[in-house]
Amino acid sequence: MEQRPFGPTGIQVPVFGQGTWNMERDRALSIAALRRGLELGMTHIDTAEMYGNGEVEEIVGEAIAERRQEVFLVSKVMPENASRRGTITACERSLRRLRADYLDCYLLHWPSRHPLGDTIEAFEQLVRDAKIKSWGVSNFNEGAAEDAVRIAGPNRVACNQVPYHLEDRKIEQFVLPTCARHQIAIVGYSPFGQGRFRSHRVLEEIARVRGATPRQVALRFLVHDPNVFAIPKAATLRHVEENAGAGNLHLTEDDIRRIDEAFPAGRQRRRWLGLR
Ligand code: NAP
Repeated sequence: MEQRPFGPTGIQVPVFGQGTWNMERDRALSIAALRRGLELGMTHIDTAEMYGNGEVEEIVGEAIAERRQEVFLVSKVMPENASRRGTITACERSLRRLRADYLDCYLLHWPSRHPLGDTIEAFEQLVRDAKIKSWGVSNFNEGAAEDAVRIAGPNRVACNQVPYHLEDRKIEQFVLPTCARHQIAIVGYSPFGQGRFRSHRVLEEIARVRGATPRQVALRFLVHDPNVFAIPKAATLRHVEENAGAGNLHLTEDDIRRIDEAFPAGRQRRRWLGLR
């Protein structure tokens, strides 16, 4: 599994991690899938206090109990909890459910009515207290990402987790270049459009030549920019194995160009409003 530095943290993180949204639906299957993913190098695990009202964090905690040191563990605070005090207590609750002493990265799930400066102060306090190693944001458009950098200073915002799949490439226009300029890692979520992936002749042709599957080709395209990571969610062993298989797939510049043309970002290019 290819790894690359995660924004300003410089920590080597696999290009493909594991999402966990809806994993409460089948606890045993989810735990088996997460463990298989770890074995295959997908050690970046993304969760949130929101998922299953905390139940998914418990599932993740059980899945990684014996292997915490290998995992790049990420969770998120709900915007409504993201006051200065609320962020700290939410993190402590998440750590208990995850049976962990620290998070590798803690995100604001989406922009909040609480002042961003208060949330950032809380994140920095959690870093000083060794409860988190780094922090980031999610669903921030380019303006909100700039605000975060202005408040926090350079090299503090580790990542911005945003929607990114072949039929939704809007981040490429403004969010991706803004984050790259500030060395903020982009973590693309819903890389299969929340399970609505549709194959395409071009993906199939490239897959055939490279000995891969169309989904692996699609995943690989999403991380062709060196600042991008993707976190597919799979609670099915076969799916985890297929996704992990994209980790060492190589696409040529010509492959990238053909996919780019088959899924034109141009048509999707309207300013991504996001929330702020
Ligand atoms: P996704 O990863 O695009 O799609 C998940 C769906 O695709 C599941 O139904 C899964 O099935 C299926 N799947 C996965 N791999 C497959 C394969 N190789 N072949 C066939 N089907 C496959 O959707 P997502 O869960 O929305 O996004 C991924 C993660 O991003 C989330 O789980 C979450 O951690 C994060 N996320 C963050 C935000 C945010 O606001 N920050 C929002 C959405 C998502 P099985 O489960 O049955 O394997």
